[in-house]
Amino acid sequence: MKNQDIKKEALSQMNSLFKETNNNTEKRYLELIQKISKKTNTHIPKEIKRKFCKHCLTIYTSTNSTRRIKNNKIIITCKKCNSIKRIITKK
Ligand SMILES: [Zn+2]
Repeated sequence: MKNQDIKKEALSQMNSLFKETNNNTEKRYLELIQKISKKTNTHIPKEIKRKFCKHCLTIYTSTNSTRRIKNNKIIITCKKCNSIKRIITKK
């Protein structure tokens, strides 16, 4: 397989894994997504990346995280492990 094909395949795998994630599987699936990303040297898509905490492998919800917007930055705080994620939003 060509390098590009591997990345394409990895992306679609990550997307479908994330779609199937639920309370029981989130930790395992998010771990898998990180593994695929590392193994294939593919970045986790932005839409997925900003939806979970990479430290404790939890999908952000309104109860386990806080989200603030400040100076074009989205600041997400994970209440579970207290990690902070900053996302710069481009105009
Ligand atoms: Zn966390």
